[in-house]
Amino acid sequence: MDINSCHALVVDDDPAITEIVREVLQQDGVTVTTASNGIEALEVFTEQVIDVVLTDIRMNGMSGFELMKRIQLLDPAVKVIVMTGYDSYDMVLRALQAGAYEYLDKPLDKHQAITSSVTRAYENALLYRENAKLLERVTISNDKLSIANKRLVLLNKKLKHLAITDSLTQLYNRRYIDQVIRREAQRRNRYHDPLSVIVIDVDNFKRFNDTHGHDGGDQALKVVGDALTSCARNTDVVGRYGGEEFVIILTKTPPHNARIFAERVRAKIEAQVIQMGDENGQITVSVGIAGVNADDEAVEGKSLLINADDALYEAKNTGRNRVVHFNDMPAKGDLKKSA
Ligand code: GH3
Ligand code: MG
Ligand code: MG
Repeated sequence: MDINSCHALVVDDDPAITEIVREVLQQDGVTVTTASNGIEALEVFTEQVIDVVLTDIRMNGMSGFELMKRIQLLDPAVKVIVMTGYDSYDMVLRALQAGAYEYLDKPLDKHQAITSSVTRAYENALLYRENAKLLERVTISNDKLSIANKRLVLLNKKLKHLAITDSLTQLYNRRYIDQVIRREAQRRNRYHDPLSVIVIDVDNFKRFNDTHGHDGGDQALKVVGDALTSCARNTDVVGRYGGEEFVIILTKTPPHNARIFAERVRAKIEAQVIQMGDENGQITVSVGIAGVNADDEAVEGKSLLINADDALYEAKNTGRNRVVHFNDMPAKGDLKKSA
């Protein structure tokens, strides 16, 4: 252990003692500062970094105990060696209990004992400092990690939102709607709940685009999306299925109620004025419904969607701007029981 870079402070009201210790330690390359009382010793701490303190216990003014307590508060890395006479072992014990690192017997004639005690104390002080630095680094890394983690959670949330959201209308996208239909059909098959699916397609939207431009068309799609959301309940799942086609999944809703809902949606959109800059426009929608009542047989989500789509095309074929239920369609008699 190299103690060349060690800085020791020797405190004793007997100058003979401070001089002996200074000489011994300086021979070994230790930087030594001396003080003749506690107050002087504490002043040294305001100017220098001290590694090891060797102090007398009985001193005028501030005792070695008090000095040790204050040093520990100033710099907990500093190791304190108490120097005391043969007659005061109870003092030594108290000093060790109060946090002294070691003790040296006066009259300090074993010079080797001084050097090895300071060496050990210095080594310990260095380890303490190293440890404190590491701890600080770990704390900083932990803080950084926790911030990074929070960002990641947020980013993940955003990504998940993006993956299931249609960017134009902010409704759910086709992928998510497909998932929900499958899951909700499975759920209603198990619990024998009613379930309805509504498919909505804007009428003559090509013409609307031709008249008002693509941006006007986009604006109309947003208005339709908002109208659907405002009509739906929290438990309904509203999505843009593609182009000018929308799907709403009505959980725990029998087809009869879905029809009332669909009619409300259709009427609301028909009445809506769409503002596109200086221009105003209006659109209508055709709606197809398919659904099952609580006591109907098991159904697949995909077939509900196909049936609702069939009903939608029946609505288109019979004049548009209307609601058709799959079971009302001609030649679907075998499935009629669900309405
Ligand atoms: P129908 O009443 O039979 O549904 O007639 P339609 O004109 O609505 O149907 P068609 O399938 O012939 O045309 C759909 C139009 O929707 C054509 C396409 O340019 C337009 N469209 C699809 N997606 C978007 C979109 O994101 N924005 C805009 N502005 N137009 C779109
Ligand atoms: Mg259309
Ligand atoms: Mg279409």
